[in-house]
Amino acid sequence: MKKVLCLLYHRVNAVKDEIFNLAVSPEHFEEQMNYIKSKYDILRFEDDWEQGERDAVVVTFDDGYADNYIYALPILEKTQVPATIFISTGYVNSGKEYWWDEIVRLLTVKKQYPAKFTLEDKLYAYTWETDTYEKRVELIKTLHWLLKMEPDYRLAFEWFEQLRKWADIDNTARKENLPVSIEELKALSDSELITLGAHTVNHISLGSQTREQQEYEIGKSIRCLNDYIGKSVETFSFPFGSAVHYNSDTLDICRNNGIKKSATTVKKVWRTGDSLYEIPRVAIDDCELEDFIKCVSEYMGD
Ligand SMILES: [Zn+2]
Repeated sequence: MKKVLCLLYHRVNAVKDEIFNLAVSPEHFEEQMNYIKSKYDILRFEDDWEQGERDAVVVTFDDGYADNYIYALPILEKTQVPATIFISTGYVNSGKEYWWDEIVRLLTVKKQYPAKFTLEDKLYAYTWETDTYEKRVELIKTLHWLLKMEPDYRLAFEWFEQLRKWADIDNTARKENLPVSIEELKALSDSELITLGAHTVNHISLGSQTREQQEYEIGKSIRCLNDYIGKSVETFSFPFGSAVHYNSDTLDICRNNGIKKSATTVKKVWRTGDSLYEIPRVAIDDCELEDFIKCVSEYMGD
């Protein structure tokens, strides 16, 4: 039976990214693309995978960071590897960092912070110690987890406002973390190697949303991306992507909105006959080539 290994990347960038590990350095990414190109057939996410007998690898990106255009695209062109990028449309051209990066920004850019932070909230009121970097990293991870599981994403903006005032930090995003601008998005879409798919509007966990909210997040992100690039959008990936972060409504709404394939973050290979609406993907860290080869070989069984 044919196997397809779908790789999941977020960022190609040399930024220091020790909290969420989303960035792969350009050097490592180029090594990884060269390796898969030399060893396997490379398919596009939207190709018909039932065709052909040989096992294959597929490259995907989630979120829509500007570095996908700045650093990843030239490497994909050089190595001639196609990729699909799933975009959270609410962040396109926003000049704002993704909400998880915003938490990091608010709690790490200053040299000194007050000793304690008290969150004022009906449900989650609590006081954390914040006098050391390590303690603030713990707070970052806690807030990230709470906001990931919380059905009302607007809460994030209230909490960020509290953090901003408490830390006395302005609204200026860190340039290296920006999502794509409209021009960058169009340039990606114009590349013969790139396909764009949707990834909700606000990057929220769909599994905890009502059907109505899911319809908004899925339907609007598809229509919006469609308008930006003037091409019909037929692929989708679920934010966070593991089993708790989507449900049968999610798959249903995707189908009703013209989506032909959707992706999870469940770590395994896709095999002939498996669902096209829950395509598993393996997230890749910034690792040495040796470790990348070990990881890919394990999934491909060679
Ligand atoms: Zn994502």
